[in-house]
Amino acid sequence: MVLEVVNPYEVAVAQFDAAAEKLNLSQDLREVLRKPKRELTVNFPVRLDDGSIQMFTGYRVQHNIARGPAKGGIRYSPDVSLDEVRALAMWMTWKCAVVGIPFGGAKGGVICDPRRLSRGEMERLTRRYTTEVSILIGPQGDIPAPDVNTNPQVMAWMMDTYSMHQGYSVPAVVTGKPIAIGGSEGRFDATGRGVLFVTQQAMQHFHIPFAGARVVVQGFGNVGSVTARLMQQAGATIIGLSDIYGGVWSNRGIDVHRALRHVQEHGRLEGLPGTEPISNSALLELPCDVLIPAATENQLTRNNADRVQARLIVEAANGPTTPDADAIFRARGIPLVPDILANAGGVTVSYFEWVQDLQAFFWSEDEINKKLKQIMVRSFRAVWNKAQEQQEDLRTAAYLLAVSRVAEATALRGIYP
Ligand code: NAD
Repeated sequence: MVLEVVNPYEVAVAQFDAAAEKLNLSQDLREVLRKPKRELTVNFPVRLDDGSIQMFTGYRVQHNIARGPAKGGIRYSPDVSLDEVRALAMWMTWKCAVVGIPFGGAKGGVICDPRRLSRGEMERLTRRYTTEVSILIGPQGDIPAPDVNTNPQVMAWMMDTYSMHQGYSVPAVVTGKPIAIGGSEGRFDATGRGVLFVTQQAMQHFHIPFAGARVVVQGFGNVGSVTARLMQQAGATIIGLSDIYGGVWSNRGIDVHRALRHVQEHGRLEGLPGTEPISNSALLELPCDVLIPAATENQLTRNNADRVQARLIVEAANGPTTPDADAIFRARGIPLVPDILANAGGVTVSYFEWVQDLQAFFWSEDEINKKLKQIMVRSFRAVWNKAQEQQEDLRTAAYLLAVSRVAEATALRGIYP
């Protein structure tokens, strides 16, 4: 049996190599684009509440900045590794290119279990990590944002720490901040709203009716919960939801607002009245119209892709599908909207936030949502047309568009010196 590659960086490089081959990119350009430009590893101490000191390891990786400043989220998780951060940074490069946002790709992370850290410990960890990576980040060079287990409060601490070092406030150093300190209207919902827009487009193009469509969402954090709420508001029926502790399922549909209240009270979906429990793996195999993985990498693999019973898969998470699973879905005729397109709503409104901060001039939520819709619909159509033109699947088409844009920028700028 051939073992499946599940190292996310190897997956990212394999996806890039496939696109580079189809684009007939020069070997030199392939070498340049395959490797992250900068990788910073930091080991730093944090004082815990009991007075003891614990060492933590964190990373900031910039993959490519040919099209603009580096942009990408910060992840706190015990599973963070340098290879994971490298993969996520490379995906950010393609994501910004596929939606035409003038940013390069970056990502950061700290190996930690936020469930075991108090609020005070989280704040001290965030401030020290920010200080350690401050040799890379900045409003002109590299702009972090929230990702798994980080949120607007963590961004507020990052913004404050960076500003303390400068001696004046620098709101544009991070995005996904609270609105009170220069955040943008619509940013919190942006990734999920973008997922809604591309899902609606994909369903239209694949002739799957939206009203009453049965939708399963894995992951109930920022991306998953907002996606589920907005999909339900737009007329879909959410039949399955999950978080890291497990899933809940109901053939009659789940009230997402009730699920949100339940999570607020109990810290997890488990025990949501009117639902049956279901494991995360069984959740992915529920018969449904749309399956939306919105949790983490490597959820759809060669081990379960044969049993997936969705008519359409929309990757709200980054890297949820392995290349083997991708091939199985292609063979089975199950279309998939790739992560670099599907979840690009987050970085799009992060871009709006950065622009607003730099201008110190703020837009209304209505304006933000309209501009977001324009970009997501335009990008979906460009990817769709590319796929038709080249007779390729949507992931390959998105990669062809993204990689060619980054390759063009890299080639135009040339090799220094
Ligand atoms: P989050 O921390 O807000 O939520 C993550 C959710 O997934 C939680 O409900 C958690 O319990 C669940 N989860 C984690 N590991 C799981 C597992 N192994 N199985 C099942 N559930 C699990 O994170 P988020 O910001 O919603 O990010 C989710 C995904 O979306 C990630 O892949 C992230 O990179 C991607 N993404 C996030 C943004 C953003 O703006 N936050 C933008 C683009 C892409």
